[in-house]
Amino acid sequence: MTARILDGKALAAKIQNELADEIIEFIENNAVDPTLCAVLVGEDPASEIYIRNKRKACDKVGMESRLHRLPSDVSQEEMLKLITRLNKDNEVHGILVQLPLPPQIDTTRILCAVSPHKDVDAFHPENVGRLVQGRPRFLPCTPYGIQELLIREGIETAGRHAVVVGRSDIVGKPLANMLLQHGRGADCTVTVCHSRTADLGAITRQADILIAAVGRPQMITAEMVKPGATVIDVGINRTAAGVVGDVDFASVREVAGAITPVPGGVGPLTITMLLKNTLRAAAEAVG
Ligand code: NDP
Repeated sequence: MTARILDGKALAAKIQNELADEIIEFIENNAVDPTLCAVLVGEDPASEIYIRNKRKACDKVGMESRLHRLPSDVSQEEMLKLITRLNKDNEVHGILVQLPLPPQIDTTRILCAVSPHKDVDAFHPENVGRLVQGRPRFLPCTPYGIQELLIREGIETAGRHAVVVGRSDIVGKPLANMLLQHGRGADCTVTVCHSRTADLGAITRQADILIAAVGRPQMITAEMVKPGATVIDVGINRTAAGVVGDVDFASVREVAGAITPVPGGVGPLTITMLLKNTLRAAAEAVG
């Protein structure tokens, strides 16, 4: 069997077109420009690329974007002052703090300082708590993109065994929580694996839906996948051979029923969901 390719890039373009229409309508109805404000500290090349891509995506859907650059030696106090100012700025609806932050900054403190109403990455404890309780304000962007992909590609989730490899606060944990909730793109039986999991392959082979969010190039091999399973590859690993995922695409596509490529799978959806969250924040702000 050769797996169906789940084309995240095409789906992201489709959702961005929908968003562009929604934004035009929103501006007409409210005379307010939905605005995403990014905060970038220092000159990390990967962060620069992410920020550039986010700005490009904003332009594409007609969303206002702002960027605050801070020097790499900025103090925590200065950074907190900026966040407080942005929290109060009625023209800013979403605040994105680009990670990682330099060592003198307490990342948790900064993320907790962002107003939960503008926390479009859904990192604030209030938003994480709401997610766990099944009444989310914002869904974290990468898990949101994955869930949207499962729904729109018609992949049944109810009653299926989803195995999430990785337990980060950004991907693994929130995704596992979302798949566990009641409703569309959820109602899964969920298992979460991590670096201390014993006999990983024995667990991944049980997955109807296998999600790899590890950060280890091509670690999920064909023997670890149940024939016909849906395989979602979150990994972005820069290697000498280029960008590869956490899944050994060439071998796994011969076993899986459906699979996301890297690049062109989950990545483009993540940015798109950030824009969706920002529009939602703007809608909440205008009441
Ligand atoms: P983290 O490094 O924060 O988490 C990695 C997780 O993988 C940890 O829970 C870790 O376990 C687990 N892990 C590590 N080694 C193993 C192993 N041998 N077996 C099983 N589990 C293991 O990474 P992120 O969640 O932030 O990101 C994961 C990947 O996804 C990265 O490649 C990243 O670049 C990519 N990414 C892609 C995005 C996109 O938009 N496509 C967005 C965000 C991330 P433990 O907790 O025990 O250490």
